[in-house]
Amino acid sequence: MRRSTAPSQLLGNVTKKPKFMPPAQIYTSHVDKESSQMNPCSTKENKKQQNYLVPLQAFVQTCDRVHSSQIGEYSNELNCRENFKGTGTQRLKPNTVNGPVTGDKEKQEESELLTKYFSVVWCKASKKKHKKWEGDAILIVKGRSVILKDLEGKDIGRGTGYKSKDLESLEEGQTLVIGGKEIEVMGIISPEDFSSGRCFHSGAEATTTIFSADLQKIRKQFSNPFKNVCRPSTEENLFKDSLNSKPRHDPSAPNSLVMPHPDQYHQWMFNKAGLPVVDVVVDPYLTTHLRPHQREGILFLYECVIGMRMNGRFGAILADEMSLGKTLQCISLIWTLLHQGPYGNKPIIKRVLIVTPGSLVKNWRKEFEKWLGTERIKVFAVDQDHRVEDYSNSPLYSVLIISYEMLLRSLDHIQAVEFSLMICDEGHRLKNSSIKTTSALISLPCEKRIILTGTPVQNDLQEFYSLIEFVNPGILGSLSTYKKIYEEPIVRSREPSATKEEKELGEERAAELARLTGLFILRRTQEVINKFLPSKIENVVFCRPTALQLELYQKLLNSRAVKSCLQGIIENSSHLVCIGALKKLCNHPSLLYKAIKENKDTAIFDEFANSSLYEGLMDSFPPDYNSIPFKETDSGKLQVLVKLLAGIQMFNPSERVVLVSNYTQTLNLLQEMCQRYGYSCSRLDGQTPISQRQQIVDVFNSKYSKDFIFLLSSKAGGVGLNLVGASHLILYDIDWNPANDIQAMARVWRDGQKHMVHIYRLLTTGSIEEKIYQRQISKQGLSDAVVGLAKTSKHIQFSMEELKNLFMLHEDSNCITHDLLECDCEGKKVHQVSVQKSSIYRSCQLGQNHKRPDSKKHFSMSELMHWKHICGQLHNLTDPFLKMGEGNISFIFQNIANDHSDSKLQD
Ligand SMILES: [Zn+2]
Repeated sequence: MRRSTAPSQLLGNVTKKPKFMPPAQIYTSHVDKESSQMNPCSTKENKKQQNYLVPLQAFVQTCDRVHSSQIGEYSNELNCRENFKGTGTQRLKPNTVNGPVTGDKEKQEESELLTKYFSVVWCKASKKKHKKWEGDAILIVKGRSVILKDLEGKDIGRGTGYKSKDLESLEEGQTLVIGGKEIEVMGIISPEDFSSGRCFHSGAEATTTIFSADLQKIRKQFSNPFKNVCRPSTEENLFKDSLNSKPRHDPSAPNSLVMPHPDQYHQWMFNKAGLPVVDVVVDPYLTTHLRPHQREGILFLYECVIGMRMNGRFGAILADEMSLGKTLQCISLIWTLLHQGPYGNKPIIKRVLIVTPGSLVKNWRKEFEKWLGTERIKVFAVDQDHRVEDYSNSPLYSVLIISYEMLLRSLDHIQAVEFSLMICDEGHRLKNSSIKTTSALISLPCEKRIILTGTPVQNDLQEFYSLIEFVNPGILGSLSTYKKIYEEPIVRSREPSATKEEKELGEERAAELARLTGLFILRRTQEVINKFLPSKIENVVFCRPTALQLELYQKLLNSRAVKSCLQGIIENSSHLVCIGALKKLCNHPSLLYKAIKENKDTAIFDEFANSSLYEGLMDSFPPDYNSIPFKETDSGKLQVLVKLLAGIQMFNPSERVVLVSNYTQTLNLLQEMCQRYGYSCSRLDGQTPISQRQQIVDVFNSKYSKDFIFLLSSKAGGVGLNLVGASHLILYDIDWNPANDIQAMARVWRDGQKHMVHIYRLLTTGSIEEKIYQRQISKQGLSDAVVGLAKTSKHIQFSMEELKNLFMLHEDSNCITHDLLECDCEGKKVHQVSVQKSSIYRSCQLGQNHKRPDSKKHFSMSELMHWKHICGQLHNLTDPFLKMGEGNISFIFQNIANDHSDSKLQD
């Protein structure tokens, strides 16, 4: 940007009177001195007339600590726009500090004066109707004098002797002549923004938050000066301009997705060349496929990556739940930025690095092809045959897709390429900043960083910090500061023993953290696409344990190991061993049998816990018991499963089932069961080579697939697996972390699903599985907060009360979860009818933590009151499959989401 620095302009042209502001006739003494300082060239006449005491005015910003000499010292502090809010409503304060230009004597008198700051544009004064604005400036108004400063803080004009009335009422759109320059006011700057120097960085931002005026108007006006003045208007340039100022796609076309214009500050910072501001329009080829939330997501990513949301920050975290189309949003962003930009339509990025789990490399390439075809964009996916070197040597490819593992191996080559955008898929793996992958990625100089993850909120606060630090380094301060300010108070407030004060402090800090990070984290849940999906019937099925299971369960609870846990004798993780044994038993006694046998054979390390846990347990198994082949009739859940599968095959032979377990051993057992019944199946678990996973999924989803069942380990499925080929999903066991189970369910009920979806979660009645379920649905309500603390069992801290509750078997109930609800429906409650009843929760069962009905935890628990409650005779059931398991099912909670059947009936 060129600015005139001619001496005449620096001082202002005193021979010309201000155009709109003839001097006033009121006299006071102190302003006279000040104004003569401000304008050493002022005429005698002006001096006489410029004395006027400016009254306080409500809307005027005052300055209590500012001086022009401080301008160069502004701090580079974090300027997030949210923080500006409220600066416009500062209370008036008297001026306490003076400039060095005034003597000590005047200081006191000066303090009575108000100083106002405006962002303005200026040009040489002329009578032309259409001004050619030459640059941006800051106007300082004090008393009846004004100083004009350019954005480097240099004085470029002074004037004095204005009508105070006119200066008082200066507002957006008004013009003023200062010396030989004419200015137009664009907005007010707060004293804070002036004193911090922010206005020289980001006057626009400060302004836009204060002014309620039409921002678009400001922006539009503002883009003019550059276009007209700041570039030499050679023919070549004019030609270029006319090319560059045209949007690539029609912004006014129906359904078009147009990115917002950058504001003034952004233009100051990033449009030094003064290029015209152009509409950035997402390719209509893509727009036609976009759902509303995806349009919103692209806009969000665009604003983050361009640096419009936070000064000098270009990172973002897109944390949409699975299956909301994070990939499509990214592809749209990439495709847009590769060819367009807000300034002269110059592309924002050249090369893009996409880092993803190995299993998804192919998937990303396919998604690019799916949405953009093979011609528009050249995408390079690294595999055995395609090496990074080939990518860096070829100018053809703009996008590189690589696995985290491969990235480490070829880091040298990656570092040699200049990437302007980096996307880390399943980016929660960067939560540990000390691992190699993270430090390797941090080492890349690319500023525009996007993390994609379906589950960031489940991580702990330190991991949260690492993710933030990765996308927007330094934004939360140092790790130790962060720990003191956020982590420690928040964690403390969530402990059962926290005092009221600690809870309040923790909540406040959590809210502040959410606000701060919310500027660049976007998370949407399934809710946003539910209306586009087919119906989903979710069943929580309580399966009666068998006599053998009950007997073994009691034995385990009476073991020395469990008893010592409850007495707090055993430290460390021995309670986890006990929990593990109970969960195995719930899945099938043979799994426990194996564990005991293996234990005996190998004399395991954790001798005390294991031996005391399994002591005498062998005797409870029948003498001829053998885990191979296992008996279906030994496990309540397995019996229900077998009948359920038979029902699905009978009633819906063309539909398929995803069967999920947390344990490889359980999957083995389920696979064996499939073989017994002649069900053909695919399987994906932790052992499945990454290179084969996508293919297994593709084959299963294909309509030609012969497989009835897809066996899935929930642990292996951490990646974005899409299993819409199936319309039934059975969770055979339950995970501590609700996010894992929700993720599993989302593999089937997601975009692309054509059938009504049936979800079955199998729980053993009265057992630890019910307790985990209760804990899950209590947690679920909390996980919407920015930092949920749900974790794997290894990280869970149990209070003694909770442990006592966990290690308790309820043999005489059809469903202790229903008992807890104190619902008197007797298992005949119909769907969606809410019972107006105050629930008082029994402390004896859910423990101390669950006593207060006002606690948030119960809200989600009480959600179950809106579900169907089914007990005993299963004639209430909408689907015929479950009816098959009648004898083994003690209770069902059922919920129909997105029920389209009603509307169809009405049609
Ligand atoms: Zn009920």
